[in-house]
Amino acid sequence: MTQWIYLDGEFVTKEEAKVSVYDHGFLYGDGIFEGIRIYDGNIFKCHEHLVRLYDSAKSIMLNIPLTIEEMQDALVETIRRNGLRDGYIRLVVSRGAGNLGLDPNRCPKASVIIIVEQLAIYPEEAYKNGLRAVSVAERRNIPDALNPKIKSLNYLNNILVKIKANLADVGEAIMLNAQGYVTEGSGDNIFIIKKGVVYTPPCYLGALEGITRNAIIDICKEQGFTVKEEPFSMHDVYVADEVFFTGTAAEVIAAREIDGRIVGNGQAGPITLQLLDKFRQIVSQDGVKVYES
Ligand code: PMP
Repeated sequence: MTQWIYLDGEFVTKEEAKVSVYDHGFLYGDGIFEGIRIYDGNIFKCHEHLVRLYDSAKSIMLNIPLTIEEMQDALVETIRRNGLRDGYIRLVVSRGAGNLGLDPNRCPKASVIIIVEQLAIYPEEAYKNGLRAVSVAERRNIPDALNPKIKSLNYLNNILVKIKANLADVGEAIMLNAQGYVTEGSGDNIFIIKKGVVYTPPCYLGALEGITRNAIIDICKEQGFTVKEEPFSMHDVYVADEVFFTGTAAEVIAAREIDGRIVGNGQAGPITLQLLDKFRQIVSQDGVKVYES
């Protein structure tokens, strides 16, 4: 079946979907993106993702050539054309084609790309057994230099960290900020649980304000857990009862071992599994419906 890609207002095949080598997204990582999930024909937290995209655009002074409503329509239409009920959406807005200089004023029009496809997620076994993870020497971009709240195409900070995870042969890596506080994983937010209290770093320390993170905070509160957004160190991670990561692709996934320390009982903890269960109950409801039911 043909895979259709939205490219600047047109639908083209995967083979035809090409952007200019002068695109500043390619030359400089100048652009922004979102990763969004579709669950049973529902674009989960569609509005929240689009708000984050338009906030990122405003922050980097990138003019998206569609209104937020038009962007939502483009997402729906791309999913319909591809006939998907479950999958992953990659929405990219790059600064567009310019010249070889870095000046964004030389890029007259931003480029909008929407790719939808099936998602190869972790095997179900990983959700029960948890991942191994390491902390790394590379610090998260400091907010004064490039704020991690901007979901930009400049992912080298995260990629360097992913390389460390690969070298250590583990599933995820944990980044600290310049002061040594835990911020997030290479592509996920992090939570720890101690004595029934759920902790996650405040985003001002240098983390993306994850949509899944916020959904999990809401679920924790509904389930009667106390959630504290406060700074913590790797020591707190080592001695936590449970540790888990959250993200659009990963959903809610436990860490069973971190820097050689076994977390809790060495498997996904009971509260982590409870939160994953509740999360999976809401993902096909909370969002925008693609098909008439
Ligand atoms: N942090 C980083 C660096 C990420 O790339 C992601 C994935 N988008 C997340 C956190 C999780 O964010 P979300 O739950 O919105 O996918």
